[in-house]
Amino acid sequence: MQLQSAVSLKPFNTFGVDVQAQLFAEAHNDDDVRAALAYCAEHSLPLMVIGGGSNLLLTGDVKALVLRMASRGIRIVREDCLEAIVEAEAGEPWHPFVQTCLELGLCGLENLSLIPGTVGAAPMQNIGAYGVEIKDVFHSLTGLDRQTGELREFSLEECAFGYRDSLFKHETGRWLILRVRFVLSRVARLHLDYGPVRQRLDALGIQQPTPLDVSKAICAIRSEKLPDPAELGNAGSFFKNPLIPAELAARLKVSYPGLVGYPQADGQVKLAAGWLIEQAGWKGYREGDAGVHRLQSLVLVNYGRATGAELLALAQRIQADIVERFGVTLEMEPNLY
Ligand code: FAD
Ligand code: NAP
Repeated sequence: MQLQSAVSLKPFNTFGVDVQAQLFAEAHNDDDVRAALAYCAEHSLPLMVIGGGSNLLLTGDVKALVLRMASRGIRIVREDCLEAIVEAEAGEPWHPFVQTCLELGLCGLENLSLIPGTVGAAPMQNIGAYGVEIKDVFHSLTGLDRQTGELREFSLEECAFGYRDSLFKHETGRWLILRVRFVLSRVARLHLDYGPVRQRLDALGIQQPTPLDVSKAICAIRSEKLPDPAELGNAGSFFKNPLIPAELAARLKVSYPGLVGYPQADGQVKLAAGWLIEQAGWKGYREGDAGVHRLQSLVLVNYGRATGAELLALAQRIQADIVERFGVTLEMEPNLY
């Protein structure tokens, strides 16, 4: 493991925020991870683990050893004629992993195409898109307890996955995810009834789509709608969609007949946070280099030199405005440091 000091984290977070890490290293295997932990223990230094940096907001220099997971490897650990359990190392980039599975004829991840980041970070917030979350195809993962150095296997139930949520998000800084296993099917069970997926396939004249067709359609939709972090800094959706009691949703609907809400199995209603932000007039707003994307109001963007603190201040102003107008609290999705 090679340690570097005073490293700019600009290339390592998709917001493109320019802060420095006191120390920086890449972990290519479990030994590198253990070496980093030992170094931090010896020098009383915090350890911060990152993957692709696509769900981070860095608000200042990081006084820690920043360890970027760069471990690679994809393998089938068990299979039969119906399904396979596929294991991937934490540092595997997510979208190429999805493509590899599809090429192997293994289905289940197609709706999660083109999500940035790494396999190891995916369980952190139970990544989801177009009606599928990783919990739907999750088998198990291997975590390293940073406090004791022990390895632990987590089953689906033990991860406590929820909407953009998991045990790992709550026990911040305890678990380092080393590798994740997914149970994928050789028989396609497609989820097309979410957003514009089916319309896009229809428009392409595809009547009986394959999982690869679904993946391609979702890549096309996402590319049109979402800013590419390589061109415009962002961390995807900045706020989670709020879950509110059905009575509050019904009251809001009287004042705002266009309110976009989705009833949940538990009786709550999930509101589209993007709709609330757009109604409040923030879509396309810009203050210095921090702004709200012109097409997708859930996405905060960095036009170049915005600092993490400026992006955070903008997010807080939006939160305060949404509470005042709608009585609804928006929770931030990216991890703040
Ligand atoms: P990072 O941002 O590097 O880290 C995120 C958090 O996980 C940090 O707290 C970090 O400490 C921790 N972490 C990282 N790796 C590990 C590990 N191995 N062990 C323990 N902790 C770890 N998310 C969705 O859910 N759905 C989407 O559709 C979606 N679309 C996006 C579109 C765009 C354009 C962007 C920029 C982001 C999008 N995201 C989406 C958010 C983001 O891509 C995901 O949350 C992704 O899983 C983050 O992965 P990462 O490797 O970049 O994590
Ligand atoms: P969209 O299709 O414009 O829909 C707006 C919101 O309505 C979404 O946030 C989605 O909630 C919800 N929604 C749409 N159809 C629904 C249905 N049939 N049932 C329940 N809820 C429904 O959304 P978008 O912004 O273009 O994003 C498309 C998908 O990619 C969404 O699933 C979104 O979560 C995901 N995405 C996530 C990020 C991120 O950073 N987290 C970034 C970009 C896209 P959900 O968000 O709960 O799905």
